[in-house]
Amino acid sequence: MIRFDNVDKVYGSGHHALKNVSFHLKKGEMAFLTGHSGAGKSTLLKLIALLERPTNGNVFINGHSLNTVTRRHIPYVRRDIGIIFQDHRLLTDRPVFDNVALPMVIEGYSHQEIRRRVAAALDKVGLLDKARLLPSMLSGGEQQRVGIARAVVNKPPIILADEPTGNLDPALSMEILRLFEEFNRVDVAVLIATHDLGLIARMRYRTLTLREGQMFNDGLAAEPSL
Ligand code: ADP
Ligand code: ADP
Repeated sequence: MIRFDNVDKVYGSGHHALKNVSFHLKKGEMAFLTGHSGAGKSTLLKLIALLERPTNGNVFINGHSLNTVTRRHIPYVRRDIGIIFQDHRLLTDRPVFDNVALPMVIEGYSHQEIRRRVAAALDKVGLLDKARLLPSMLSGGEQQRVGIARAVVNKPPIILADEPTGNLDPALSMEILRLFEEFNRVDVAVLIATHDLGLIARMRYRTLTLREGQMFNDGLAAEPSL
């Protein structure tokens, strides 16, 4: 589903953010991506979402090299990827329903299909009864779940999350992780960037550990010293 082949990313500033990174995340696989702040986690996610391009090497999504994707075709690739941000980036002046509907509105789905899918996504995250509220009326955990509903409303085969539990307490963080597990169970590939080692230890999933831009470890447990 997601494959990195000897990927380097050097920013314009000359900073070498990723060094010779290779890994393969299969269809329906769920993994954590961890490492210190500045290790390259966000850069790696940005390369998958085509928000940045590799300096060397190749990223494949569904067997297709992203190196050959032209600017015009970026939206087609992004359609397969649901992204969840730590700060959830919701539109504060729009109700929950509109926030979740946004990706489908952009895609030009019918009103009927949008209503159906948004209701299904909100139901999935347990917020069907809050569809008419503004995000500011919700708790932090609920706002994060709105962000998740928005990311999955198009049923993408890939979900990327960048510090999705960063602002949440351990109990709420587990709730969010359980949601990812449910998507994962229906064969969605899930990659979760986090430095919450407590969460990683409790979940026992494959963990990709970056250290100064290099893939330092790819296995079950992260180094306790990290
Ligand atoms: P993480 O998500 O693990 O904290 P990042 O991928 O955000 O790491 O950053 C990796 C390194 O690349 C950091 O040293 C950061 O300062 C640098 N970096 C990130 N984005 C840019 C950019 N747009 N231009 C220059 N340097 C960047
Ligand atoms: P259908 O179009 O098959 O009727 P629905 O939109 O009613 O599907 O959703 C059916 C269930 O499948 C929902 O609970 C939905 O969250 C789940 N589902 C399947 N694939 C995904 C995906 N990629 N992301 C999120 N949920 C998914």
